[in-house]
Amino acid sequence: MNTAADTTPASPPPGRCPLCGQSNQCAITAGQPPDSCWCMQTPVSREALARIPSAQRGKTCICPHCAQPVDDTSILSAQS
Ligand SMILES: [Zn+2]
Repeated sequence: MNTAADTTPASPPPGRCPLCGQSNQCAITAGQPPDSCWCMQTPVSREALARIPSAQRGKTCICPHCAQPVDDTSILSAQS
């Protein structure tokens, strides 16, 4: 019998951002050297990391868009 009662949430595939569901463009997932991943050049905001569900944290990469700080003026203003 095939029952549809089990509503286990499908975990996103490793190539997907857990925050928005878009491709995270992770080089490691794509079979590229880790050094070539965007996350090596782009700082990932702590806010974005905090929004990742604990079950996905450390396992699934987020995408470059979600990694950007929501309020990046706070970073730029630190220089002036
Ligand atoms: Zn995303």
